[in-house]
Formats: sequence, structure tokens, C-alpha cells
Amino acid sequence: MHELSLCESILDIIEEHARTHGFHTVRSVRIEVGMLSCAEPEALRFGFEVVTRGTVAEGAVLEIDRPPGEAWCWDCETLVPVADRVSGCPACGGFRLELHAGDQMRVTELDVD
Ligand SMILES: [Zn+2]
Repeated sequence: MHELSLCESILDIIEEHARTHGFHTVRSVRIEVGMLSCAEPEALRFGFEVVTRGTVAEGAVLEIDRPPGEAWCWDCETLVPVADRVSGCPACGGFRLELHAGDQMRVTELDVD
């Protein structure tokens, strides 16, 4: 399952922070999963619960943000928001888009004790 390996990377990040900053409990974790990523929020929540069992992040609330993708349109010569991979540029309808963001996954906030 794709989401499970994503959750393992999230846990790696949390554990690294726990080592660096010396905390023992994580109350909540906010992550950003781009709209163009195929990860399912529900599957992420489930995977997170599974991989964090017995770790510093056990029981932590997972908050998921889904920011839209962003692409450079070569016709408009500007950055435009994109909701999926198949639609063209929302401004000119063109397809000369270069994806800049949208399938990223990162931890943006950790609330710890
Ligand atoms: Zn355009």
C-alpha cells in the first residue's frame, strides 16, 4: 500500500525530530499532501495509526492539508493552480504546463510534549 510507506516516512521524520529535540509525546501532526498525490486521506489516517503503534507518535492526531498543485504555464508565462493532471491551464486552456508542486508530502507542524 502506497499510503503505508508514506506513513513510514512521516514516522521517520517525527522520530528524527524526537531525537534532535528530545520530546517523548506527539499530540498532533500536520502534514501537507498535494492534491495531485494519489494518497487517500482515510488510508493515510489508518496507515498512520498502524505505523505509530509503540512509538512517540502513538495516539497523535493526524491533520491533513490538501493544497492544490501548481504549474508553470508556458503560454501565460505565469504560475497557475492545477487541480488534477488532466486539465489544462485554468487561465488559457493550454497544455504546455510544467508541474512545480502538487504531489509532495511533507510534515508542516508537530505539536509535542
Ligand atoms: Zn496558460
